Amino acid sequence: MPTEAQVAVLRAGTSDLVIETVDLPEPGPGQILVRNLGAGVCHSQLHEIHAARQQTFLLGHEACGIVEAVGPGVTAVAPADRVSVSWVPRPGEGTPWRAGITLRNGEYASTDEMVFTWATHSLIDQRYVVVIPDAVASDAAAVLGCAVLTGASAVARTARVRAGTSVVVWGAGGVGLSAIAAARRAHAALIVAVDVSADKLELARAFGATHTVDASSAEPLHSLREITAQPDGSTGADYVFDCVATQSTLDTALSTVRRGVLGRSRGGQLVIVGVPAPGVGVSARDLLIGQKTATASLGVPDDIATVIPELARWCADGDIDLNALVTDRYDLPEINRAIDDLAHGRVRGRAILTFT
Ligand SMILES: [Zn+2]
Repeated sequence: MPTEAQVAVLRAGTSDLVIETVDLPEPGPGQILVRNLGAGVCHSQLHEIHAARQQTFLLGHEACGIVEAVGPGVTAVAPADRVSVSWVPRPGEGTPWRAGITLRNGEYASTDEMVFTWATHSLIDQRYVVVIPDAVASDAAAVLGCAVLTGASAVARTARVRAGTSVVVWGAGGVGLSAIAAARRAHAALIVAVDVSADKLELARAFGATHTVDASSAEPLHSLREITAQPDGSTGADYVFDCVATQSTLDTALSTVRRGVLGRSRGGQLVIVGVPAPGVGVSARDLLIGQKTATASLGVPDDIATVIPELARWCADGDIDLNALVTDRYDLPEINRAIDDLAHGRVRGRAILTFT
């Protein structure tokens, strides 16, 4: 029996999505049909919407939902399981199935990131879903699959922030707030949030920032040097996470990483978390002279089947407050307004679509 679903469709040459009714087939081998409770709206989709494309697209790469049906050979989940949907695949043999559906007009719509979640239902490869506890699984848990996974993993798994250290996070959106919460959980002594929005910085304090720098009114480099100043006169943080990653933020972020002492110790670490535009770089000379390390964190370097349930436990323990992280909710037909609000900085934390 096909399942009638509503999906947001993006056609080539347009940047407005339209909501269409489609008939999703029964899941094929290795496929899962998920009824979504919530789906996140993140900056990656802004890039996708404005990229040149030849074909009709479906979007969205994080969600929380309930498994409605599974295809032959599916072992990871069963009907009625509550799951997190992520754009990061679990390890497995071969290439996962790139989600796509035939629309009612006969057109085939596919995805850039293998999954789609801006829909009442997602038909996706089983490698993109992980079971999470019922107690955590709500519409707000949609943000586990990208925002929380990316921000928290950069801190806890890529950089492995240690207790008593100093941390600076550039960009206090959904990813940055998750990074701040993970730094608090790691008992970092100093956690500085940098953003151009006073509203976001206020929220950052609730997530664990001990200091905030409003880059729209203060000179961030000067403020960060003051905040990170040590008794011996040195400045700079042990870890600087750049969740914005423009050339300008990366340059300033790198100069606020603690320098090493020649012959005695290495400097701190810059972690690139946001997606830089092509050609954006980090100064090799500044890395060398300052004995600093630059690294990057895309999604998570480990199996999401382990990481996402662990992050769900952090949420259950109160280390990450999903309902505070999700600040804006939209119904699926309001998708274009959600995108416009995100593009113009009107989303304080993370925006999600909700499905009733
Ligand atoms: Zn995302």
